[in-house]
Amino acid sequence: MHPSTYKAKAYSAASETSPLASTIIARRDPTERDVQIEILFCGICHSDLHSVRNEWSEFMATNYPIVPGHEIVGRVTRVGSAVTKYKPGELVAVGCMVDSDRTCQNCKRDLEQFCPNMTLTFNSPDKHLGGVTYGGYSDSIVVNEHFVLRLPSNLNIAGVAPLLCAGITTYSPMRHWGVGQGKKVGVVGLGGLGHMGVKFAHAFGARVVVFTTSPNKRDDAMRLGADEAVVSRNADEMKKHAGSFDFILDTVSADHDVNAYINLLGVDGNLTLVGAPAEPLRVPAFGLIVRRRSFSGSSIGGIAETQEMLDFCGKHNITADVEVIPVQKVNEAYERLLKSDVKYRFSIDMASLKSK
Ligand code: NAP
Ligand code: ZN
Repeated sequence: MHPSTYKAKAYSAASETSPLASTIIARRDPTERDVQIEILFCGICHSDLHSVRNEWSEFMATNYPIVPGHEIVGRVTRVGSAVTKYKPGELVAVGCMVDSDRTCQNCKRDLEQFCPNMTLTFNSPDKHLGGVTYGGYSDSIVVNEHFVLRLPSNLNIAGVAPLLCAGITTYSPMRHWGVGQGKKVGVVGLGGLGHMGVKFAHAFGARVVVFTTSPNKRDDAMRLGADEAVVSRNADEMKKHAGSFDFILDTVSADHDVNAYINLLGVDGNLTLVGAPAEPLRVPAFGLIVRRRSFSGSSIGGIAETQEMLDFCGKHNITADVEVIPVQKVNEAYERLLKSDVKYRFSIDMASLKSK
């Protein structure tokens, strides 16, 4: 039997060529373990844009209408009868997942992001209502308490929202690959993910080099914590770093030459891909063989690690650099995101959804 529902305001796209527009969706009333959240801010991730335009159709086709958004910060408004972690009035956050089976080997290791039965915040089968899940471009959301995060009290919440995806997606692989003092770390692409990657690598004590296609981002890269910024289209600048990196995080959203970065890794160096271009990338065997290099990927992070990341940000005063926009500007924001014209994440002020 389906739980009862209520009406929520949202922004959705009706097809891969439609702009996002105002709509009304059904949300379930909180069941026993659910937390109902009034959404205050939602970041715009490039994954929202890939999904809205069905660019990942081969791997994860989009179901329409789609309500994107998985960088959610809000206030608890109601809780189910068995909820113990949260109370109405508290500030909380939700990231890219809203459910998993909690029993598989991956869930038991706090790696819910790899659970075969994981439910993404949007465009995943909705176990409660049928259809698919609807994300954070909305005035509210209802989520099992296990997938709700606690916010540090000292941070600006518009800038906290992007931590729920851009933050954890860069924090997790850097922790996994031991980024820290004495390590030389590269971050490719200074966008939403990239600028968080720079902040974390710097906070972990590494030497940080940013690779950007945008010469005008050089000064920002240094301000954000880089020790050096390289314009990747300049072959001479690239050559100077050949064979010297311990770890490189690639956040690029479009097709590009990964081999150019594999060549910059030293012995046992690792390049981790978090950017998710629609087309396959070419990786020549010898680029990896010659220095026992590795090439890997990473997807967001588990719930416990996401909480750890938020607590780390509270302690080190880290938030995303955001441009706050009303939801009515979301289509314009997508066009600007494609042109790398945002410093460095859009954060939607959801109060704007209440106005016409
Ligand atoms: P974003 O803000 O648009 O940043 C991407 C950056 O890549 C741009 O700012 C630009 O940096 C660089 N870039 C863009 N087009 C390029 C091109 N043609 N050649 C070289 N560089 C280019 O996007 P984002 O939100 O950070 O997301 C980045 C990617 O990560 C997306 O594909 C997204 O879907 C994916 N993602 C993955 C995960 C995961 O769990 N693995 C999570 C979230 C997002 P410069 O101007 O500095 O060159
Ligand atoms: Zn994302």
